[in-house]
Amino acid sequence: MSIDDKNALARYDQLLARVYTERRMPTGTRDLILALGWVGLRDLRRHDPTITTWTRTREVLNATNEQMWRHLADDVPRYDSKLHDQTPNGCQAPMVRVDRLCGRNTVHGFSERDPVTGWSRHWGFCNRQRCREYATPIYKRARHSCTVAPEPIPNRGGLLPLFFTWDWEPKYRKAAKHILFDSGWGPPGYGLSADEWPAVPGQEPVKSFPKLRLIASHGETVQRSALALI
Ligand SMILES: [Zn+2]
Repeated sequence: MSIDDKNALARYDQLLARVYTERRMPTGTRDLILALGWVGLRDLRRHDPTITTWTRTREVLNATNEQMWRHLADDVPRYDSKLHDQTPNGCQAPMVRVDRLCGRNTVHGFSERDPVTGWSRHWGFCNRQRCREYATPIYKRARHSCTVAPEPIPNRGGLLPLFFTWDWEPKYRKAAKHILFDSGWGPPGYGLSADEWPAVPGQEPVKSFPKLRLIASHGETVQRSALALI
């Protein structure tokens, strides 16, 4: 076994160990990262110039082109308010003598943005006088919050760039458009890689990892010889 092979083997072990400690990784993203690592570091055809890393990865995964785009779409870095907003159904004004919320059907609804994370939460209230009075200062605060809150910190995706340096942005844009039907997707101001995002209070930040470089050569392809440690 050459020094290169030994290094690649150690490196591949590190990659697997790191991937298996990531609890928030969707299955498709994990498959893709493991396959990219295998193809770049361990696969017998890793020095074969006649096949690109991306094509070989698709072969290894036995995936269609469409499935590959779905894997990429799972990892589009973005903020998804549905992931964290646990707003209860019904009016959220507290009852006076009982320790629970009013819970009647809501008539007034609005969003409030967190001043630190930029994340939104939904408020809903019924039409009773007491509940409307309770809601008024919250409504004023919420309206103000929408003008001062920062860009929401992404809470989905951004894991592939933790492991591999590549020109991910056009790939994510295409996956967002064709799989998520989101033509307006743009890279988060905080960065594409989840380890660049600010810490969210109460959540453990994503750990970074020494990245492998994947260099796009022409269009969708990745140059074989260009997978290198950085
Ligand atoms: Zn109510």
